[in-house]
Amino acid sequence: MLDRPNSKAAWLARAAALKPEGRAFIDGRYVAAASGETFARVSPIDGRVIAEIASGDAADIDRAVAAARRTFEAGIWRDADAATKKKVLLRFSELVREHTDEIALLETLDVGKPIANSLAVDVPFCANCLQYYAEFADKIFDEIAPAAGPDELALVRKEPLGVIGAIVPWNYPLIIAAWKIGPALLAGNSVVLKPAEQSSLASLLLGRLAVEAGLPEGVLNVVPGLGEKAGKALALHGDVDMVSFTGSTEVGKLMLTYAGQSNMKRVSLECGGKSPHVVAADADLSKAAEAIAWGIYYNQGETCHAGSRVIAHESIRAELVAAIAEVQRTQIPLGHPFEASSQLSAVIEKGHMERVLGYIDLGVKEGAKIALGGKRALAETGGFYIEPTILDEARNDMRIAQEEIFGPVVVVIPYKDEAEAIRLANDTIYGLGAAVWTNDMRAAHRMSRAIKAGTVWVNTFDRSSLTTPFGGFKQSGFGRDRSPHAIDKYMDYKTVWIDYR
Ligand code: NAD
Repeated sequence: MLDRPNSKAAWLARAAALKPEGRAFIDGRYVAAASGETFARVSPIDGRVIAEIASGDAADIDRAVAAARRTFEAGIWRDADAATKKKVLLRFSELVREHTDEIALLETLDVGKPIANSLAVDVPFCANCLQYYAEFADKIFDEIAPAAGPDELALVRKEPLGVIGAIVPWNYPLIIAAWKIGPALLAGNSVVLKPAEQSSLASLLLGRLAVEAGLPEGVLNVVPGLGEKAGKALALHGDVDMVSFTGSTEVGKLMLTYAGQSNMKRVSLECGGKSPHVVAADADLSKAAEAIAWGIYYNQGETCHAGSRVIAHESIRAELVAAIAEVQRTQIPLGHPFEASSQLSAVIEKGHMERVLGYIDLGVKEGAKIALGGKRALAETGGFYIEPTILDEARNDMRIAQEEIFGPVVVVIPYKDEAEAIRLANDTIYGLGAAVWTNDMRAAHRMSRAIKAGTVWVNTFDRSSLTTPFGGFKQSGFGRDRSPHAIDKYMDYKTVWIDYR
């Protein structure tokens, strides 16, 4: 194994030597798209092309679904015993760990996040998730219902669904892929993974590592391609039993349409968010400011549950805004992703950078005040960087407070009393995450009950674990990733009633 690079120059040299695999991984091997078409992946860190990616379409999805169906019906993975499933999935997670540097580099080149984060968070969280679900293999039991007579047996068996289409976004490609692959494979399904067109590289490597770990060829397939081509073909496919989707609310709604237009496949949706922090007058402001700054600037704000709306009591708003800016200045520097000190780097692509900057301009037009940042940064690199930004003195009915900006931009809105804070917190189409900051535990309980969100943090933010379910209310979607509950999504109950008289 090569030593881990210890400087920006060493990472750049490693990146220059890299030849990323951009072909689809179908039935255990890398193959070009049936059409022969590719698209160039431009790295957001410097605007250079890093790989040509196979542009999968309906023909490639057909091949991948056929491989998944064949392996599922043959039972080569579905019917493997628990010890085998556990061994293979554990080995898969170990291989991810053994390839940490290579995978982290692919992830950083593809999506622009600091290499330190890819190394410390994205790759280990992916491996940990695969390990977590592997360990369930010999701990899931079926049931015997107390319904039958003495000479009968009513079995309630949990069975895998069949072929799972996993469609994932670009912000945490490895982690979200693992949230889906882990429980889906553990349950005995075969899978076709469609990474976002901006982030195919690490996922394509995962396909190979799964086979190296002993997963039979064809059980996990990875088809890169554009959403409207490969993604749509997968979601419309008549031989796919479920689509497990993470992405925008707009495309999530299309998944429901596609299911209705095709085979009524099941759909689980993890979609967008506009998560509020409610900061009361009695809150510990320095603790809140630290969590708010990390929660919006980590991963360039490209986090579905990023706390992108701060609903601050009018008496402490100005002090809080100054404290958030200070945390950013002292703890979360913006820089090139290969600089060890960088905590915030490039956003995913040029078009997205322009979209986020457009929202900042819109916010100013709507009447908000820029209290931090607001501009493009590091343009000389050729990459797509945005200054960490605070839009202060906003109103909740502004578009910047209602629409998902998905960049390092937090919107601050004042409130007068608790009832107004709850109303503002809930006044959005989303319901993914929320935080309440107060030293009054009665108020904390009242607000955490009243706010509609899949996770409500109290005096903390973004604490997460594989053991807790994650997902949204309202138009943030339905179905949960993580925790034992995620396994249920990929299985269903079958009653087998036996008369043995
Ligand atoms: P997106 O909806 O544009 O794309 C997500 C995936 O869907 C990609 O693989 C894309 O190729 C595919 N896709 C796009 N159009 C499609 C179509 N017509 N048919 C089928 N597939 C299609 O989202 P994105 O820009 O990649 O990711 C950002 C979004 O994801 C944000 O809204 C963010 O909040 C959300 N997200 C949610 C969670 C969660 O757990 N709730 C987690 C991460 C990201």
